[in-house]
Amino acid sequence: SVEMLTDDCYAEQLCRDTVCDQFKPKTLTELGLEDSAEIICSLGALFNYLKETQMTGLGRISEINIYSDNQFMSIDYNTKRNLELTETMRNKEKRGSLLWVLDKTKSAMGKRLIRSWIEKPLSNLAAITRRQNAVEELVADSVRRGEIIDTLSGIFDIERLITRIVYGSSNARELRSLYSAAQKLPALKALVSNSSCRLLKDIHNSLDTLDDIARLIDIAIVDDPPFTVREGGMIKKGYNQDLDLLSGDMDGGHEVLSKIENEEREKTGIPKLKVGYNRVFGYYIEVTNSYKSLVPDYYIRKQTLTNCERYITPDLKALEGRILGAKERAVQLEYKLFEEIRNLIAEQLERIQSTAHAIAQLDCLCSLASVAAENKYCCPNVNLSGKLILKDSRHPVIERLLNDAPFVPNDVYLDTADNRVAIITGPNMAGKSTYMRQTALIVLMAQIGSFVPCSSAEIGIVDSIFTRVGASDDLSAGQSTFMVEMTEVADILKNATSSSLLILDEIGRGTSTFDGMSIARAVLEYVADKKKLGAKTMFATHYHELTVMEEMLSGVKNYNIAVKRHGDDISFLRRIVPGGADDSYGIDVAKLAGIPEWVISRAKQILSELENERDNAEIAVKKSAQGKQVNSNSTQLSLSSPIDDRINEKLSRIDVNTLTPIEALNILFELKKISDSR
Ligand code: ATP
Repeated sequence: SVEMLTDDCYAEQLCRDTVCDQFKPKTLTELGLEDSAEIICSLGALFNYLKETQMTGLGRISEINIYSDNQFMSIDYNTKRNLELTETMRNKEKRGSLLWVLDKTKSAMGKRLIRSWIEKPLSNLAAITRRQNAVEELVADSVRRGEIIDTLSGIFDIERLITRIVYGSSNARELRSLYSAAQKLPALKALVSNSSCRLLKDIHNSLDTLDDIARLIDIAIVDDPPFTVREGGMIKKGYNQDLDLLSGDMDGGHEVLSKIENEEREKTGIPKLKVGYNRVFGYYIEVTNSYKSLVPDYYIRKQTLTNCERYITPDLKALEGRILGAKERAVQLEYKLFEEIRNLIAEQLERIQSTAHAIAQLDCLCSLASVAAENKYCCPNVNLSGKLILKDSRHPVIERLLNDAPFVPNDVYLDTADNRVAIITGPNMAGKSTYMRQTALIVLMAQIGSFVPCSSAEIGIVDSIFTRVGASDDLSAGQSTFMVEMTEVADILKNATSSSLLILDEIGRGTSTFDGMSIARAVLEYVADKKKLGAKTMFATHYHELTVMEEMLSGVKNYNIAVKRHGDDISFLRRIVPGGADDSYGIDVAKLAGIPEWVISRAKQILSELENERDNAEIAVKKSAQGKQVNSNSTQLSLSSPIDDRINEKLSRIDVNTLTPIEALNILFELKKISDSR
C-alpha cells in the first residue's frame, strides 16, 4: 500500500531542522546542501517518516552521498533488461547475463557491490581510470591476486552484521563471526600494502584491522555461544567478577545438591533415590515405586509418574531458591553485559563500514582482474575522444556459451564525424543483434573499469546507452508489440544526447512495410543529423532500401554480415564487412529452421512474383519522375524511392515563372547528377 505524506511534511524549516539534527555536528554547508532546498526537503521528510516508523537505528546514518547524473552513465530499465546485465530476458536467470561473466567475487559484500557497479557504470574519466588501474595491477600480479582471493573466500558479511549490531538484533554467535572475519584482516591489509595505484592504496588505508574489537569479543564471548541472548551461556569466565561470583554460587548449589542426594539415600535407605529438576516443579527427589514404603513423612509428594513418585523437602526448596535466584541474576547480567559489548561495537560503526566497503571493492577488483586474465580481455584506452574503435571484439556472454563453434571476432569503428551511424544489414540469424549488443556491453564494461573482450580498444566515454531490441512483448501490460516498440523509440529520441550510444534493432518491423520503412528512415535521419541528435548509432534493419541513406546523409556507413551461398544452401560467416547486404535470405533461414519444403518453394514463387511487380512499379515511378506532372506534396515512399524523392522534391520547389535561364541550367545539371547516381 502507498502512504501519501501531506505537503507540510516537506516544509522547508522543519526539514532543515531535521537534517541539521541528524548530521550534527556537520553543518548544511559542510554537507554541501546549503543551496539545495529540494534535497533538504525530501531528506527531511524521509527522516521524519523513518523516525516515526523505525524508532531506532537512525543514528547510524551519519553521511550522505549525492548521486548526480554526471557521475554515472544513465541506463534505462529497457536497456538494463535488453542487454541482460544482471539476468536473462527469457528466464530471469543470472547464468547468461553480464553479471554471470563478471562476478567471481568471494564475499557477500563483493557480490552486492559488483551488481551495483554493473547497474551503474561510471561516466567520469578519472573515476574509471582509478578502477582500471587497480584491475590492471591485479591482472599483472596473479600470485598476489590469488592470495587475496583465498583470504577473501568465505569472509563473513560484516556489512550486514554491523547493521544488525546497530539495530540491536545481532546475537553472540554473530559477534563471534565478526571476530573470525577480523582475524583475516591483517593478512588482507598486508597483501595490499605495497600497491602502486591510487585505489588499492586507498583500500589499504580504509582497511582497519579492528584489533580492539576482535580482542573485546574474544575475551568476552565464549567460542560457541547459543543463538538466543536471553538464556545466558554467552559470556566467558573471567570477563566480569559479579558474573563469576553468581556462577560460583550456582556451582556451589549444585555441589550441595549432590550432597543432599547422598545424605537422603543414607537416611532413607533408598539406594536409587535421585535429585532431579524440571521447569514446572523445580528441584525434586525421585523414588521408584518399589521403594515407596521407605519414603519418610517429611517428603511432600508433588508428582506421580507410572513407575515413580517425585517429592520435595523444605531444605531442597530453600536450596532451589538460592540456585535459581543466582541463575536468573546471572542470565540478566549476561544480557546486560552483552548489550554493553554490542553498543561498544556499534559505536565503531564507521570504521567497520569503511572496512566492509574496502573488502567489497577489493573483492570486485580481483573478480574483474580474474575474468580479464581468464578470458584474455584487453585493457581499453578510455578517453573523451568520442570514438569507438574495437579490434576483434567478442560478445562477453555468448563467447562463453558457445560449445561447438568458436566465436568470430569483429571490428567496430564509430566516431563523431563520418562514422556516426552504422547501418547493419544481413539475413536473420547472421549475428546482427549479437554484434550490436556486444558493442554496447563492451562500452559498458569499459566504463565499469573492467577490461574488455577485444584485442585492442579505444573507447570514448558515452553519457548513456539506449537500446531498442527485438519485440519485448510487454503484452501483459496491455500494450501491443508495436505500441511498446514505438514508446521505447519515443523515449530514446527524447532522452538521448549527441554523447549517447544508440542500439536500434529493426525499428518499424512491427507494422506494415511502408509505414515501418518510413518510420525507420525518419528515425535514421533524425539520429544521424548533427543538428537534431547526431548520436553514435548502430542501426540494424531488414529494409535493404535504407542502405541508400549512406549516400544521402553525412556520417552514415553501411555494413553487412557476410553470408556464403552454396547452391541452395547458405552458411553464416559471422564477419561484418563494409557495404549493404545484397539479399535478405529470409527464405533460406526459414528452410534452415525446418519449414516444410512445400511452403519454402511456394514462398520462393510468391517472392519472385512480388519482385517482378516491384520492378514494374519502379519503372513506372521513374517514368513519372521524367514526366512533368509531379505532385508537389508527394510524400509517398516507394521501395526504391529516395533518389526519386530527391528529384521530385527539387522539381516541386521550382517556380518556373521567376527562373532565370542560368538558374534553370544549374538545376538541370543537379538533377542529372542525382539521376546518374542511381
Ligand atoms: P535476427 O535478424 O533474426 O534477429 P540476428 O542477425 O540478429 O538475427 P543474432 O541473434 O545476433 O542474429 O545471432 C544468431 C546466433 O548466431 C546467436 O545466437 C549466436 O549463437 C550466433 N552468433 C552470432 N554472432 C556470432 C559470432 N560472431 N560468432 C559466432 N556465433 C555467432
